[in-house]
Amino acid sequence: MLTENLAAINPSPTPWQRCLGLIQDKIGVSSYETWFRTTEMSVLPDGSVSINVPNQFFADFIEEHFGVLIREVLATLEITCSALSFVPVKKDWTIIQPLTESIVEAKNRLIPRTVERTGRFHSNYTFEKFVVGDSNRMAHAAALAVAEAPGKTSFNPLIVYGGTGLGKTHVLQAIGNFAEKEETAEKIVYLTSEEFTNQYISYIIDKKDSTSFYKKFIDVDLLLIDDIQFFGGKPATQKEFYRIFNKLLLESKQIVLSSDRPPEKIKDMMMHIINRFMSGLIADIQPPNLETRMAILRKKAEIDGLSLPGTVIEHIASHITSNVRELEGILIKLIASCSFTGRDITLDVAREICGDMIARNGERISIRLVQKKVADNFNISPNQLNTHSRKRDVTLPRYIAMYLAKKWTRQSLRTIGLEFGGRDYSTIIHAFKKIENDQLHSPELKVRIEAIEEVLRPLA
Ligand code: ADP
Ligand code: MG
Repeated sequence: MLTENLAAINPSPTPWQRCLGLIQDKIGVSSYETWFRTTEMSVLPDGSVSINVPNQFFADFIEEHFGVLIREVLATLEITCSALSFVPVKKDWTIIQPLTESIVEAKNRLIPRTVERTGRFHSNYTFEKFVVGDSNRMAHAAALAVAEAPGKTSFNPLIVYGGTGLGKTHVLQAIGNFAEKEETAEKIVYLTSEEFTNQYISYIIDKKDSTSFYKKFIDVDLLLIDDIQFFGGKPATQKEFYRIFNKLLLESKQIVLSSDRPPEKIKDMMMHIINRFMSGLIADIQPPNLETRMAILRKKAEIDGLSLPGTVIEHIASHITSNVRELEGILIKLIASCSFTGRDITLDVAREICGDMIARNGERISIRLVQKKVADNFNISPNQLNTHSRKRDVTLPRYIAMYLAKKWTRQSLRTIGLEFGGRDYSTIIHAFKKIENDQLHSPELKVRIEAIEEVLRPLA
């Protein structure tokens, strides 16, 4: 009797619930909530497993991103699965119906392929689809020059470096796409440094011969190697890479490399390789500023055939500040959430979805928010803070906003400078010191700043 009651209160989990438990552990609560909360599983008589998902978008997305994980989890729990399929429950997915094509593209964009491509590049990673701003202007210009005339500019090798999700793979692939389409190079090879390493190792192990590996590269006109930071600490691979690198450069063949840090910071990278890099061009990509983030969102939405309200774009761009991949992630979540609930894409939905992300990143206070609160306090528009006006009724709030942005956000001085109309980081330091000092002499100023901080505190 007692056991029956207990079973009623706490029924043992179904196989799918057990799977979901493991999946949630692996992918985290937020992704789980977005993609799995409403899914159900049925095991069919023929041993195949079908997972019911809200609509086709979910089916495609889950299969592509989590298919491998689901199969692993089923195996871990010893659930036999001769075949796995994802079945959309709702076929009339009204909102995203016109987006079907573009969603496939959106999805593809999220998953950089990791196989070697010789002359086949990701169709989304083109120069046309790359938004140029202050943060990436030089890398873009150099990349375009190199794509137009591989091996014929002084940018050889071209090394693009920058933090994760800032567009390095996009730039390398855009060069490949361009060179292929415009036929500026004949043999083009793109691969990641990990693929290079793995292939090299397997040539040595299987064929006991590195010469044939070397030969693969000798007639290459354009060699693109992504993420060379993974060469760090692999001396044998570095040696082989250096051999190929030198040979190609000698013949004026183009080499383009990317790294997530400046080459000299790659751990255990041979000095003579780094020195050779100096003979070309090393171009960095910085995090995009607000205007560029807005332009990127507009572009992505346009590519996806979506019309996003300006307020939604502004909200996302001012809250998701660290990298472009996150911006894209939000856009995908927004589409998913709206298709799932049948709601329109509104500022409220965007707030909800960004809220999750911001809470996770611990970045609740954005520069934009500081600007808004300061502008409110002075009864001016936030945009005036970004102008170069020297009128005192604008300069004082601008200094205060810079001071508070440094104090309350986690952004670098450089980013803060960019968000204040593209100013130099030294301006921010100057503003910070000035306001800190002026407060000591002006109780009135101190009170005013404290009042603004009172507004910011609950949002932090
Ligand atoms: P990285 O290789 O630096 O980690 P990616 O090239 O994979 O970054 O970029 C992450 C995502 O952001 C990609 O989908 C890419 O298309 C997009 N992206 C990055 N920068 C830009 C940009 N300036 N314009 C348009 N899309 C961008
Ligand atoms: Mg990359």
